[in-house]
Amino acid sequence: MKVKLLACTKDADRICAAAGNSCYSERPSAEIVEDIDSEKVLSRIVGMGHHSVIEHAVFTFSVEGVSRALTHQLVRHRMASFSQQSQRYVSMDDASYVTPHTIEGNEDALRLYESVMDDIWKAYGKLEEMGIPAEDARYLLPNGCTTNITLTMNARELLHFFSLRCCNRAQWEIREMADQMLRICKEQSPVIFRNAGPPCIRGPCPEGKKTCGHPRTDL
Ligand SMILES: Cc1cc2nc3c(=O)[nH]c(=O)nc-3n(C[C@H](O)[C@H](O)[C@H](O)COP(=O)(O)OP(=O)(O)OC[C@H]3O[C@@H](n4cnc5c(N)ncnc54)[C@H](O)[C@@H]3O)c2cc1C
Repeated sequence: MKVKLLACTKDADRICAAAGNSCYSERPSAEIVEDIDSEKVLSRIVGMGHHSVIEHAVFTFSVEGVSRALTHQLVRHRMASFSQQSQRYVSMDDASYVTPHTIEGNEDALRLYESVMDDIWKAYGKLEEMGIPAEDARYLLPNGCTTNITLTMNARELLHFFSLRCCNRAQWEIREMADQMLRICKEQSPVIFRNAGPPCIRGPCPEGKKTCGHPRTDL
């Protein structure tokens, strides 16, 4: 998996702080942005629940070599924009799939997994030879099939996304991707993303009996 930041709002902490402050000032954000204390202003405004202010910050990521099992979960997030590699226009000739660690670490399971994948791609190739278009041959392909996706989220959605997907109860592959995105966001906008991550970063776990019991300390 490769997660790369393609673009983001420059000086997002300051821009969002200035936008927020402009609601309570006679000065426009163009002036406020010059001498704003983003730390102080953002923690006050966002702390009051005015989360719309951080919607001014936008981040675009390129995500490469993840499974379609991951992207199926990812695209459930509606406050985001996506562009995903097509299985209609791009032939999936090369057998490319993600192998979960549990399977990798079990010799028998790995043998079975690889042999089924091998059969799938052989069948895919045969359908193509029979003149079946890629858009129909793809019905054979597994959830593990790799894909590339570009996604854009604003900081408000990112905070929500990190809250759900950096949690230990999230599925491991999307969690790995969310963790990488969070580290990048923290580098870019340390104020907005200071307390970002699963709820256990900020207080008690809300999962009740389903809690993993291991608050995350590595983010
Ligand atoms: C651990 C885990 C397990 C999951 N298991 C399943 C599962 O078994 N089956 C399944 O179907 N899904 C499952 N999901 C997906 C989950 O139900 C959500 O679809 C997904 O996490 C997107 O989150 P969201 O809807 O909160 O936010 P987003 O779509 O990212 O939207 C952000 C926020 O905007 C607001 N919003 C967006 N759209 C609307 C709307 N139409 N009306 C009102 N408010 C809106 C809400 O406040 C929402 O929280 C799982 C998610 C997680 C994290």
